[in-house]
Order: sequence, then structure tokens, then C-alpha cells
Amino acid sequence: MRTVYVNGDFRPENEATISIFDRGFLFADAVYEVTTVLEGKLVDFYGHMARLRKSLSELQISLSLSEANLLDIHRKLVSKNNITEGLVYLQVSRGPADRDFVISEDAETPGVVLFTQEKKLVDNALAQRGQKILTVEDQRWRRCDIKTVQLLYSSLVKTEAHRKGADDVWMVLDGEVTEGSSNNAYILTEDNTIVTRALSNDILHGITRQAVLQCARELQLKVEERSFTVDEVKAAKEAFSTSATGLVNPVVEIDSDVIGKGTPGEVALRLREVYLKASLAAAV
Ligand code: PLP
Repeated sequence: MRTVYVNGDFRPENEATISIFDRGFLFADAVYEVTTVLEGKLVDFYGHMARLRKSLSELQISLSLSEANLLDIHRKLVSKNNITEGLVYLQVSRGPADRDFVISEDAETPGVVLFTQEKKLVDNALAQRGQKILTVEDQRWRRCDIKTVQLLYSSLVKTEAHRKGADDVWMVLDGEVTEGSSNNAYILTEDNTIVTRALSNDILHGITRQAVLQCARELQLKVEERSFTVDEVKAAKEAFSTSATGLVNPVVEIDSDVIGKGTPGEVALRLREVYLKASLAAAV
């Protein structure tokens, strides 16, 4: 059984509780972060905590735990659960309040929950065979830059994609790809340029995206941050996604059309390797 963290305590997962009046449960009034664990260390921890602060500040939730406290809790949880490879989820809700659309002026105490998932991220079958993607209309709210727990649309469409034999969805807004259900989306064009949508409220500002674009630039690859269409994906040499969970994850098919040779692309695999090496070297 896992040990989890809830509001100041480490507990067995079946003994951890939060209020039924928590606004996270009633209004999806909560944000989260997911940090990769490789070789028992946290990848890009400070990047994830910076984005957590941004999400919290957008929702005006104040969290008294410092970065040092949060690092300590993450590390203790990794150690208590013997995680060498996997993920740490950190969920922060506004906390309990009598149910009302109007958020009370009296500051409630935020609910803080952390739990781990043990997972094979590096030797991953999906990365080896490449993902099959279906496109769907992006019907999410238009503040996708805030990492809220409001994940229902993405969860429903990814489930539907699985039922149809695909691995994930890429969402399309006004004819252009925004991102995957829980990852950022990229193509490699015929002239070897990596293209990914520019940062805006339409996508989550991926921590892996930032690191992978840095790796791409260090490899002297051309990078363009701009929107692209589904037709451009179909005509691309390669496609891939990035996230803390999937790292750099090749895409081989979109809406049943084969991309490039229909196998994981050379550039995507190279980026995966370089990103893994760089993130391990910098992990804390
Ligand atoms: N886009 C969405 C919608 C996500 O949910 C995620 C991760 O959960 C990402 C992109 C990738 O972000 P990161 O690289 O920080 O994991």
C-alpha cells in the first residue's frame, strides 16, 4: 500500500481523507503538478514548482508551503514508497467551504495532497512503437495555461480514442492543433524544422516542452513556435509529443494516416535520448 501526503501528514492511502466540501471536489477549484522521478530523483522540480505558483496565483489560492518544504515532502514520499522510476502528483485545492459559487473572502486553508505512481517511463512500449492519434475539436475552457484539475473533456476524448484503437488525441481549435490530452504536440517538417504551437492561453506551458526545445536548439535543429494544421501533420516527416509522463513520445499515425515512414522518427528518438540524459544530469 502506498504512503501519501495529506495536509501535513504522511498516511497509508486508505487512511487519507479530505472534506466532502472541498472546492476541488465541488468546483474543480484546484491545481496540480506532476513531476517525473528517474533513478529516484526529481526531474525539473523547480520548473514544476514555478508553474504551480503561476497556476495558484491565477486562481488566487495562497499556499504557505515553501519550495524547500515541497521538495522535502516530494523526496520523503519518493523514499517512503521506494520509487526509482515514476511520478509524483501534487494537488492543491482551495480547500473546504460551504457550497457557494462565490468564493468566500475568508481564506480557507488549501488542501494539499501528494501521491506517487510507480511507472516504467524510459523503457516504454508506446515510445518504442509510436502513438496513434485521433484528432478532436478542442472544447476545453480557454485557460489551458492554468494547470487545473478540470480534466474531464480530455479524459472523455482520450477514453473514446482508446475505444477506437488509438492511443491519444490531438485537439484542434479553428483548424489548428493546440496540444494532446496531456502533452504538447510537435511536427518535424520536410525541411527539418521542429514546429510546435507558440505559448498562449490555448495550451499548457509544458515544462518538458521548455527543456526539449532547449535540447533541440543545442542540437542545432531549427525550431519554429507557431500553429500548424492537421494537413501539415499528415505531410510531416515526423511527429511527437512531450510531457512529464511520456517524455518525448513519437507519433506514427494521425486519423489513420501514416506519418513519415510509419515508425518512430529519428529526430524524435534522438531528442528523447538527449532529453533523458540532460534531465537525469540535472535531477534533484
Ligand atoms: N498539455 C497538457 C494539457 C497537459 O496536461 C500536460 C501535462 O500534464 C502537458 C501539456 C505537458 O506538460 P509537462 O511537460 O509539464 O508535463
